[in-house]
Order: sequence, then structure tokens, then C-alpha cells
Amino acid sequence: MITLNPVSDQFRKLLATQVPEDCFRPLSPSHLEDPRGNYVGMKGIVLAPRTVDEVSTIVRLCAEHLVPIVPIGGGTGLVAGHIMTNGPAPVILSLDRMKAIRELLPQEDVIVVEAGATLFSVQEAAKEAGLLFPLSLAAEGTCQIGGNLATNARGVNVLRYGNMRDLCLGLEVVLPDGQIWHGLSRLRKDNSGFDLRNLLIGSEGALGIITAATLRLHPRPSGYATALMTIGGSSAALKLLKYAQKLAGSAISAFELIQGVGLDFLSETMPDLRLPFDKNPEWAVLIDLGLHKGQNGDDILLELFEFGLEAGLVNDGLIAQSEGQRTDFWNVREHIPEANRLIGAVANHDISLPLGKIPEFIELASARIQEIAPLRVNCFGHLGDGNLHFNIFPPRAETPDAYVSIKPSVDLLVCDLVKDLNGSFSAEHGIGRAKVEMLQKYGDPAKLFAIDAIKQALDPSGIMNPGADLPNTQ
Ligand SMILES: Cc1cc2nc3c(=O)[nH]c(=O)nc-3n(C[C@H](O)[C@H](O)[C@H](O)COP(=O)(O)OP(=O)(O)OC[C@H]3O[C@@H](n4cnc5c(N)ncnc54)[C@H](O)[C@@H]3O)c2cc1C
Repeated sequence: MITLNPVSDQFRKLLATQVPEDCFRPLSPSHLEDPRGNYVGMKGIVLAPRTVDEVSTIVRLCAEHLVPIVPIGGGTGLVAGHIMTNGPAPVILSLDRMKAIRELLPQEDVIVVEAGATLFSVQEAAKEAGLLFPLSLAAEGTCQIGGNLATNARGVNVLRYGNMRDLCLGLEVVLPDGQIWHGLSRLRKDNSGFDLRNLLIGSEGALGIITAATLRLHPRPSGYATALMTIGGSSAALKLLKYAQKLAGSAISAFELIQGVGLDFLSETMPDLRLPFDKNPEWAVLIDLGLHKGQNGDDILLELFEFGLEAGLVNDGLIAQSEGQRTDFWNVREHIPEANRLIGAVANHDISLPLGKIPEFIELASARIQEIAPLRVNCFGHLGDGNLHFNIFPPRAETPDAYVSIKPSVDLLVCDLVKDLNGSFSAEHGIGRAKVEMLQKYGDPAKLFAIDAIKQALDPSGIMNPGADLPNTQ
């Protein structure tokens, strides 16, 4: 393995001769922390270039002098991909100043944006053009398009529109030797050789710096219909989803599972947040329909509710009667991660399973955790995608610190069960540094070999985000 060098005064001076002085930014805590407060990054220098050529110059110099680079977007990643926890002081490359919307082509349903644009700003630009950029997640005000691409972000609308990969037509990327790949294609079909775009999407900064992207827009639904229904459990939720798909087809843009524990956490940590039911149910689903012109969403939701009631799947339900009420329903779902953070988790798992295996997983994992300790489970997630956030908390009035020693056995239990049920230990958050060991343990050996070979070929010195995304790089 090649030994990397820390950023030195000499290297800083060299950089200053080749990139404008305003690229140098002060190091702030946000460059070194992750949203859950579990990791602390190595201090280094922060560079925020304004153009792809400046990014290229920085990367080329880092490659020549074997200095590690850590790309950082909004810093909302949940697996420490943007936090280098050990090794030589790196260049922390912030995309904050590259946030222009370069082009919006409504006739093609296409937008070309720079990597530092926040997801929210891209949603808003699409909205102004009467279109929709459908990627949506709770961190959308802060996370950036480059980070969304580097993690292949998913969120609540995958059921209808797919994940970030499905929304990207082309990329502009600075490769680890400083070369610029001009891949901002607007083509929907391009079968000319290996698909570099799909290789870079989800590579978590380990194969290059994404500087811009061509993204696919969609027609804006003419309206939305939203319901919250209380249900008996995940098995009932799956049956309800099946019937909802029969009734509404692709109009279903989100189908979210919520466990009552999450609502209890909201009551405990955010007493001012309006909760929809007088008494928190054990389980609920949040269903969102994006409607075509002429479609009556309330009728569809009412029919779904009546079917659910008759079939014994649904106990109670609310259909949003105004935009304000719809926002209230979504506020409940979107604040659960923050409530989890405030309560303090012993372990967090972002897993995916074949849809039919979800009830078995929840039942077995919850029971087996109780055999280790009387912990609380808060399970919620994007049910339609088979993606659960399965998070484990200390008993009421206790702190997670007392349970640090059992975290490895909880992780093992959850991941082993996920593997037995043919699922994945990482559904949407990626590998980062938090899940490298899991990748090593559960990853297919041939896949690990190929990942290693690709990394070696593109980044033989290992300067790009060392320690992230794959074993054996730090
Ligand atoms: C409250 C909350 C809710 C969330 N909900 C979801 C959800 O529903 N679905 C989901 O998928 N994720 C979710 N996340 C995780 C996170 O928001 C996503 O992973 C997001 O895509 C990260 O974007 P970012 O700009 O913050 O990237 P960062 O956190 O800055 O970086 C993430 C990774 O991408 C790399 N990177 C960043 N920018 C670039 C670039 N330009 N070029 C190359 N590499 C780069 C970094 O090195 C790092 O490895 C949530 C996070 C929070 C805090």
C-alpha cells in the first residue's frame, strides 16, 4: 500500500500558486462531524473551488504529492463517508461554491446543475419551470446533488420515480489523476461502452469528484392526496400496499411504514409537533398519491381505507383535507430521524429485504434483541421499496452509553438475519466508513474483488477518500 502524505505548509503554498486564494476556506466543525455525532474527522485544509478546472488542478496536485482528498457535500451522510477518521491530514474538498443551475431544458425534461446545489434548490428550480425533481428526503435543505449522486440517495419517492441513479442522465467528474470526464450527456439511450456514469454514482467519493450532473425532470402531478392509516403491523401494511397499487398504480409516490415507538419519541422530544391520532397507534402507514389531471385521490384513498377496514388490515384513518394537513402528516414522518437522534440510539440499521420477508424480519429481530437486553426498537421506512430503518434504543430514562458494549452483538444479530433473509445491510445510506467491516463480512467475494480492481485501476495511489466505501484502502 502506498503511504500518503499529510497536507504540509509547503503543499499549501504550492496550491496557492495554482488556485485562487478565495478557494481556501476556514475549517469549521461542520467539516469534521457527522449528523449523528458518532465520528470526528481528521483536521486538514478546506478548499472550495468555483470551477471544474480548479477542482482538476487541486486533484492533480494531490495525486502528484500523494495527499488524501475527502469530498464533502452537505455533510448529511449517515455512514461517515465525508468524515476521514484517521490517516494523514487531508484536503477537504467542499463543493459549496459550485451550485449553479447551468441549464434547464423544459422541452427535454432536463436540468444541468453543479454538484454543490442543494437538493431543495433543484426541486425549486424544477418547480418554477412547472416540473418536478422527485428526489425527496428529510435532509433536502442541506444535502447537495453531488452528495446525492455519490451516495445514490433514495428517499420517499423511489416507489414511483426510482433512486438518484434513475434520475441522472450524465455526469461531469474529475477523476483521481485530475482528468476531467465531460459526461454531461442528455441522452436517454447511450450504449457506447462501459457505463462510467453508473460506476461513479454511489461511489462515495472513492473514484472521483462529481462536479456537475444532467438530471431528469418529471411532469408535476396536478395535485396530491395523502392519508395516514393505523394498521396491525407490517404484514397488514404489505397487503394494503398491494391493494393500493391495484387502485392507484404508479400514482403512489410514497408508502411509508411508521412504528408507534417513533410517534412516542416525537411526543417525548417534540411536544409542540402536532400528532394526528389522540393515542399513538402501534403501527401506521403514510400514503401519498401524486395525481394526474382528473384523478380523484380522496376517492381512491377512501376506497383503500374501506377495503382495509373490511379486510381487518386498517383500524383507523385520516385523509388530509388541506395542504396544511398534508404537511402535518409529512412533518410526522420527516421528524422521526431527528426524534431518534434526540433519544440517542444504541444502533442504527438501514436495511432492505425482499418485500415478503419484512414481517418475518421485524418479528424475529425484535424478539431476538429482547433476549440481549430490554431495548426499544423503532422501525420505520420506505415500505414500498422494502427499505427499513431498524433502529435500537435504550430503555426509557436510560442513555445509550450504558449499552455501547452490546452494540456489536446487536449489529451482528440484525445483519446475520438480514443476510439469511436475502436482504442487504445497506439499503440507501451507503458504506462510508461506518459499514466497511460489514461490506467485508457480508459482501460477495467476487464483487469485492471487482471493487478492489476498479479502485486500483482508477486511483492506484488511494488518494480519493481513503478508508471510505471499500476495505483495504487506508
Ligand atoms: C435527517 C436525515 C434524513 C435522511 N434521509 C435519507 C433518505 O431518506 N434517503 C437517503 O438515501 N439518505 C438519507 N439521508 C442521508 C443523506 O442525506 C444522503 O446520503 C445524502 O445523499 C448525502 O448528501 P450530502 O450532500 O450531505 O453528502 P455528504 O454527507 O457531504 O457526503 C456523502 C458521501 O458523498 C461523498 N461526496 C459528497 N459530495 C461529493 C461529490 N461532489 N463528488 C464525489 N463525492 C462526493 C462524500 O465524500 C461522502 O462519501 C438522510 C440524512 C439525514 C441527516
